[in-house]
Amino acid sequence: MIRSSLTTTAITLLCLGVTLPTTGVAAAAEPKSQITILYDAFGTDAEMKKDWGFSALVEVAGKRILFDTGNDRDIFAANVRAKGIDLSNLDFVVLSHRHSDHMAGLSYVLSVNPKVKIYAPKEGFGIYGSSLPSSFYRKDESLPPQMRYYDGKPPEVMKFGTAWQGANFELIDKTTEIAPGITLIALVSEAPGTRELKELSLAVNTLDGLVLVVGCSHPGIDKIAEAAAAINPKIHLIAGGFHLVVAADDAIAKAVAALKDTFKVENIAPGHCTGEPTFAALKQAFGDRYIYAGIGTSLPLGPSTNVGGRRGERPILEEDDLTTYRKLARREDPFGLLQARVLR
Ligand SMILES: [Zn+2]
Ligand SMILES: [Zn+2]
Repeated sequence: MIRSSLTTTAITLLCLGVTLPTTGVAAAAEPKSQITILYDAFGTDAEMKKDWGFSALVEVAGKRILFDTGNDRDIFAANVRAKGIDLSNLDFVVLSHRHSDHMAGLSYVLSVNPKVKIYAPKEGFGIYGSSLPSSFYRKDESLPPQMRYYDGKPPEVMKFGTAWQGANFELIDKTTEIAPGITLIALVSEAPGTRELKELSLAVNTLDGLVLVVGCSHPGIDKIAEAAAAINPKIHLIAGGFHLVVAADDAIAKAVAALKDTFKVENIAPGHCTGEPTFAALKQAFGDRYIYAGIGTSLPLGPSTNVGGRRGERPILEEDDLTTYRKLARREDPFGLLQARVLR
């Protein structure tokens, strides 16, 4: 199934002498299904610049979704160009939360795609803009007009500005299915230092199970997994930052156990603020179901990740296919094209 078609594609490309980056290979017939890491501080792709922060292009269910935009506008732009990614035909952008290591590249996105829909968490007086009914503040009718807000005649709705005036924001307050099978999970951090910080995670229901992309997981990766499992208890893949970068060993062990044993997450592709000791612990726990996700990597989502799948509609991947999938996912050059070129 997967294998034969991939092999054919690879041979065809080799015959043509085509040199394609990882992202270009599956282009022939169907829309791509993959997650490409565009921004992170680790990886092996010499074309990409490493920096703290996160961004990924999520191509799934026929949609092209930019999830977060990195920490530095120019580095983000360079990494996008290095991967040959066209930001002018995105379906939408998701900004996971208001930390700058996830938002700084937005101005570059807007420079090439000013009208693109941007989903972001709804926050009172937040950086994405907001509004409130003017009834929110107490009035005092005894004051003369010049001492009253708006001379005593406020607009019905008071609008508060955004740092990106004119951008097409849609603010999300609670977990919402924004397109069939595509849900933004909205949670709030309770951790000291980021208390009340709102964060969105992207959950896509596929025939293989739920594919979950997380930014920084400030509300807790276990809480996000719990919310994801309520959409579909079969969690096929979690990619992104798990925010255990300064966590102690026992907290790391607890999070790893929750993902592996409680939520039975099938594959894990941690990055960004997950933390080095957590990379080690997850690798130990998940073995070959740990998918390397350094900057520049494209994680193939398999041919069956069409949206809207329900459990039990198709047989589980055969072990052969699963092994191939994992091998591909671990490699920078999944089809051996670059290596073959070097050898020639
Ligand atoms: Zn953050
Ligand atoms: Zn972050």
